[in-house]
Amino acid sequence: MKTQRILVVGAGHVGLYAALRLSKKLGSREAEVIVVDPQPHMTYQPFLPEAAAGNISPRHSVVPLRRELRKCHIVAGTVTRVEHARKTATVQPIIGPAREIPYDHIVVAPGAVSRTLPIPGLREHGIGFKTIGEAIYLRNHVLDRLDVAAATADPETRRSALTFVFVGGGYAGIEALAEMEDMARDALKYYPELKAEDMRWVLVEATQRVLPEVDRDMGAYTVEVLLKRGMDIRLDTRLESCVDGLVKLSDGDAFRADTIVWTAGVKPSPMLDNTDLPRDERRRVTCLPTLQVVDGDTVVEGAWSAGDCAAVPDLTGPPGAFCSPSAQHAVRQASRLADNIRAVIRGREPVEYKHKHAGSVASLGLHKGVAQVYGIKLKGLPAWFMHRTYHMSRIPSLNRKVRVVVDWTLAFFLRREVVALGQLHDPREEFLEATPRLDADSRA
Ligand SMILES: Cc1cc2nc3c(=O)[nH]c(=O)nc-3n(C[C@H](O)[C@H](O)[C@H](O)COP(=O)(O)OP(=O)(O)OC[C@H]3O[C@@H](n4cnc5c(N)ncnc54)[C@H](O)[C@@H]3O)c2cc1C
Repeated sequence: MKTQRILVVGAGHVGLYAALRLSKKLGSREAEVIVVDPQPHMTYQPFLPEAAAGNISPRHSVVPLRRELRKCHIVAGTVTRVEHARKTATVQPIIGPAREIPYDHIVVAPGAVSRTLPIPGLREHGIGFKTIGEAIYLRNHVLDRLDVAAATADPETRRSALTFVFVGGGYAGIEALAEMEDMARDALKYYPELKAEDMRWVLVEATQRVLPEVDRDMGAYTVEVLLKRGMDIRLDTRLESCVDGLVKLSDGDAFRADTIVWTAGVKPSPMLDNTDLPRDERRRVTCLPTLQVVDGDTVVEGAWSAGDCAAVPDLTGPPGAFCSPSAQHAVRQASRLADNIRAVIRGREPVEYKHKHAGSVASLGLHKGVAQVYGIKLKGLPAWFMHRTYHMSRIPSLNRKVRVVVDWTLAFFLRREVVALGQLHDPREEFLEATPRLDADSRA
């Protein structure tokens, strides 16, 4: 049999785990695995809030692809089109012309992007919270705003600098809000000019509850904890506009904020619009429980998908239910998907994916958390401890696990770093100022 070429689109939770397993379980004569991702690393997204808060080094919450996937061929680029009818994907490398890569099997796993709404000012002033770049930026930005507030004599500038708005109360939004507030509160020890009461942390959530992943009472507990910490929690409220940083809410309130973080859900990668793969009304790739792509009743031979971009039936839920977009499902689906590709290549039947969502764990800052796992509800320190042990066990590779534990241990003995490295975002500024422009006269 000819060597099968397996093309993995996206090296996130699904892509990395699937590629790793495929390359371990299939011999090099059976298959070659090509992984395409514009980033040189997989991002362990559940650690983004801790990376933003400075509890973990951002480098340790990502997994380098070339180190982990040694038996795979890594292509640094973006898949811009998939013509499955021709079994060909178009890849745009970081630099240079696009090229086509033919394949026998494709694993479509580009994940999701922030699901934004056409809100005036959001594009200009908002930032998402899905990438390591956004986490690093947000950390530097929040600390930088403390410096701005401490240095200004203008009360309006100060109020705006110290107002932080998070839109969306799922686990990403709640964890990001709680961790960032915790970090800023810690940092204030070094700012005698500022008091904790000067800061305003606002959560804007369109529904009547937060953390829909856990039971109502746990969501209510989370709100209670955040309110006790002085946060401004607006349920049943929408962001209507934020032109020039003037935040207008649906409850009629309006105020200025220098920081607007959008964490109100995700939608499948828009790259899927440039494919001939079948999709459902939410633009997800339609899949069978075997993670094979399906068009109506027909299996699309050689096409596989999983994770945030895929509609995978949840066999543990009521009829018509789909697996939620979560790392918990993504990594398990990845293993099933890899084993199923191997089975099909070896002429065996694929097996259905079945996993009952175990629950959720969320950190609410150092030593604070909320968790509901297999029906067991935990609050405060035990929940936070469970959050850490669970995610430490889940982040790929021993190398990352050790680094993360060392970060946590150091943070236990030393105070956390609260310095803004805002220059990272414009590193050439000083050099440009020092280097005169070449005008026509000086060139002559
Ligand atoms: C802040 C935050 C906290 C979270 N916390 C939890 C949690 O506690 N528990 C939990 O279960 N889930 C959590 N999640 C959700 C979880 O991270 C996602 O469900 C999971 O990452 C989905 O995996 P995926 O492989 O589908 O997508 P991703 O992991 O997002 O991977 C997609 C990959 O595809 C790449 N890509 C995108 N487009 C292209 C393209 N055109 N060509 C090539 N590559 C492409 C991207 O660069 C990326 O590497 C959290 C998410 C966030 C943002």
